[in-house]
Amino acid sequence: KLGNATAKAELGRAAWKVLHTTFARFPVKPTKDESEALRQYVHLFQRLYPCGECAEHFGKVLAKYPPQVSSRSAAATWGCYVHNIVNKRLHKPEYDCEQIGDAYDCGCADDEKQDSA
Ligand code: FAD
Repeated sequence: KLGNATAKAELGRAAWKVLHTTFARFPVKPTKDESEALRQYVHLFQRLYPCGECAEHFGKVLAKYPPQVSSRSAAATWGCYVHNIVNKRLHKPEYDCEQIGDAYDCGCADDEKQDSA
């Protein structure tokens, strides 16, 4: 049982990292297609998330707070907000979303820089 809890927490940390980093790298001014891709990504992430009870709860969160996909800052702020809903449910401290801007720098080169590298 303890092993299961540890695995579930590790999965959660990895999943949140990918999600928040995806939002931090989402276009500042996305096309309609890019916004739609992010919306679908979040919904499929929920649908296929390997922890069943987590997926079920997160589905209710998405129904109440649909993914915000109009811009990078909208997506990042929304991601922080819904993670805080999960934190609250699990009796974890609330994260200060003001600091989200710098927290998820993936160290990836910008697309333009990659071309010239
Ligand atoms: P995590 O919550 O994993 O956070 C990792 C790091 O992200 C933190 O250390 C902090 O630096 C940063 N962070 C914290 N809050 C925020 C925020 N609001 N915005 C941005 N960054 C933040 N576990 C369950 O037991 N039951 C569940 O129902 C459940 N549902 C989940 C649903 C989803 C969609 C996901 C992705 C995970 C879920 N989990 C669930 C796992 C749980 O959320 C945690 O990932 C896990 O318990 C490990 O917690 P942690 O304290 O290490 O930090």
